[in-house]
Parts: sequence; C-alpha cells; structure tokens
Amino acid sequence: MRELVPAVRAEKLYKVFGRRADDAVRLLEQGKDKESVGKLGVTPAVIDASFEVEPGEIFVVMGLSGSGKSTLIRMLNGLLEPTSGAVYIDETKLTGLPSKELRALRQEKVSMVFQHFALLPHRTVLENAAYGLEIRQLPKAERLERANNALEMVGLTGWESHLPTQLSGGMRQRVGLARALAAGTDVMLMDEAFSALDPLIRREMQDQLVELQARLGKTIIFITHDLNEAMRLGDRIAMMRDGRIVQIGTSEEILQDPANDYVAQFVQDVDRSRVLTASAVMERSVAVVGARSGPRQALRTMREQQVAAAFVVDSDRKLVGVVRDAAVAEATRQGTESLTSLMDPEDVVAVSPDTVVAELLTPSAECPVPLAVVDEEKRLVGVIPRVTLLLALGGGAGESDGSSTSEDAAEPSSVSTEEVPS
Ligand code: ADP
Ligand code: MG
Repeated sequence: MRELVPAVRAEKLYKVFGRRADDAVRLLEQGKDKESVGKLGVTPAVIDASFEVEPGEIFVVMGLSGSGKSTLIRMLNGLLEPTSGAVYIDETKLTGLPSKELRALRQEKVSMVFQHFALLPHRTVLENAAYGLEIRQLPKAERLERANNALEMVGLTGWESHLPTQLSGGMRQRVGLARALAAGTDVMLMDEAFSALDPLIRREMQDQLVELQARLGKTIIFITHDLNEAMRLGDRIAMMRDGRIVQIGTSEEILQDPANDYVAQFVQDVDRSRVLTASAVMERSVAVVGARSGPRQALRTMREQQVAAAFVVDSDRKLVGVVRDAAVAEATRQGTESLTSLMDPEDVVAVSPDTVVAELLTPSAECPVPLAVVDEEKRLVGVIPRVTLLLALGGGAGESDGSSTSEDAAEPSSVSTEEVPS
C-alpha cells in the first residue's frame, strides 16, 4: 500500500517582513532571538514552522493576535511567498510555482473562508456562492448546480435570491462556507472564520463544521485565537507564540502535557471535563479473567491485584460482565463452577473511549466498580476507577505548584494505550 501523503505540509517556513528579511532568517536559523533580529528593522512574523496535516484532519492553529497565524495560512495557499522554506499541497510543491500554475493549483485544491465573509454586496446569495466558479469560468449551469448544492449543505436553501445585507452574521458566514464548498477543493483554510459571530451562533457554526467535515472528509486548517474553539474543533492543535509553533498535539495532549509554562498558563482555565475523554484518563484493567475460568481463578486474580471486582471477557476480549469478591468467594464455598452466573448486570457500565469526562461523572458515582471502556467491538480497552476520574479533573486546575499535579494527571494517559492482558 502507498504511504499516506499529507494533504498539506509546511517545511521550515519563515516569513519576515522588511528589506533585510533574508539576513534576518539567517540570524534566526543561527539561533538569534526575535528581539535582536528586530534591530535589522524587520518583523519576523513566522519562524521555522514545520508540520503535516493529514487528509480529512481538522488542524487548528491557535495563538494570540499578532502571533503569526494569518501570515502562516496565507503562505499555505500561496497568497504570500515564504522568505524561506516550502509548502506542499498533496505532493505538489507550491512554493516557487509560476503565478499562473499557482493560481490554477489554488483554485483546484485550496479554498479559503475569511473572518469578514468577503461577500459581494450587490450579488445574491446564490451568485456569491458561485463566485469562485465564475472566476474559474465554469459553464453557468454547472456553477449554479454546485452553488445550490453547497447552499443546501449549509442550510440556506430558500435564501438563494437574497442579498448579503438581508442576512444575519451567521447566515453570511454560511454563504462564505458554501462558496468554499462549491469550489469542491479537498483543502479548506479558515482564518478566524467564526470570530465575528455571537457566541451561540458561533457554537452552531462549529457543530455544523464538524458535521460537514465528517460527511465530506475535507481537510480543514482552522485558525482561531479562542482556546475553547480550538479544543472543540481540532483533531490536533498547533499552539503559536510570537511567530513560532510551540506545541502540536491533540487537545488532550496539550492539556495533560503542556510543552512549556506558556502553554500551561494558557490552558489552565479550560474546563477539562469537556475536553478530556475516557481514553485519556482510563487505566489498564489489571483484574481481567476469561469467561471460562472458574471462581477460584477470579479470586486469585483479585487478591493479587488487591481489587474487589474483576472484569470478565470472552476469548476475543469482549466484555462479558463483572464479578465481585463477595459473590465469588461464596461461589467457591458452594462449589459453583460458572463465573457468568455470578455476574450482576447492574455492576457493568461500559463507555466508549471518546466519551467526555463530564458525561462519566454520574455513571461513575452510581457504579460500584470502575467504569469499563470498550471499543466498537465491545472489547475491553481500559477501566476508569472513580479516584482516577477525580484526579484527572483536579490535575493542574489553577494550583500554584502545577508541577506535581499535572504529572499525576498525566500518569493514566501513559498506560492508556496498553492492551488488556489476556
Ligand atoms: P495573527 O493573524 O496571529 O494576528 P499576523 O500573521 O496577522 O498575526 O501578524 C504577525 C505579525 O506580522 C504581526 O506583528 C504583524 O504586525 C506582522 N505583519 C503581518 N502582515 C504584515 C505585512 N504585510 N507587513 C509587515 N508586517 C506584517
Ligand atoms: Mg490574523
């Protein structure tokens, strides 16, 4: 099988504004800091940015105003030429392409959604959605069909002949989104696309984007200065500071294991319970017994592991149920051979690995044994004891000595990918 080609690849990208930009890049490459390089009368906007975005990924670039996000995204679609480094779309090197080929590549492969919608005020919603295709000189019938389809995807059917001024902010941005969808490119770049919207509308747009992405499989690079938006949308997040990418990871990785104090401070107020998922906090299940083993074996396992319950799995490691110490001990006295007859269905609460922690709190409080985390095939992939859940939520939540707590919180994730011993 062919190896997966990244949809977008940035390789050591630099963008320095100013006459002596090349000298500045050389100094930055030698390790000089941004401030001393600034003495050349230049502005280093993006410094040494490298990353790969997988096809179908939502990759968020997150940073405060002025950190270089827009400059970075404008290099990704060729609107800005890097001072140094290169951009690849699929396998094609964008950087250095003659302008005509660059334009063709952009039209075919990359579309952009802007913060302030960039709609043409005197054109209808339908004409706005079709605008990119008009520039590409596609036949009118095809343009209109594709624009109509795109408007339907964003829920604007019935609004085709309205003018942008007759629309709310959220609806205008849906037109912007429809225009990008009508273009039919695999890659969509979105620069603060929802930042001008009211919070509630913004949430709706975020949900719609996630849903559209799941349906259409687009590769999306989404820029925001809002951490909550980044965490809601991003499969991975690149954290930018002063032109540099300081960390790339999933929201869980960034929460659990911030690369430096800057990132740690940034994420300290995030509601962890809505970001962390079962897979990030679960532990390897230590007390697991096969469904065919007897009560004696189960009891021995529980004693060795110092736990009061054991998870019972079949030969495919699918979860069958839970047995508790008292019932098993009683069974050994009475000579019962079957474990399955000892299981109480009330004891088993199985959750999927991507359930957010907020939704685990009630089940965990009501379940006498650890929660079982099972995959789509119902195989046991981990367990979540109540204390683990509470510890994960407490981790690094604004304490002054964040070091020890964040280490504690990170611990479960270090074993989370391990398999259940059979
Ligand atoms: P962000 O999108 O994260 O707010 P920008 O990429 O817009 O950040 O800006 C990064 C830095 O580059 C800022 O210091 C900004 O002033 C500077 N900058 C951006 N565009 C230009 C330009 N065309 N000329 C000079 N400096 C610029
Ligand atoms: Mg910007």
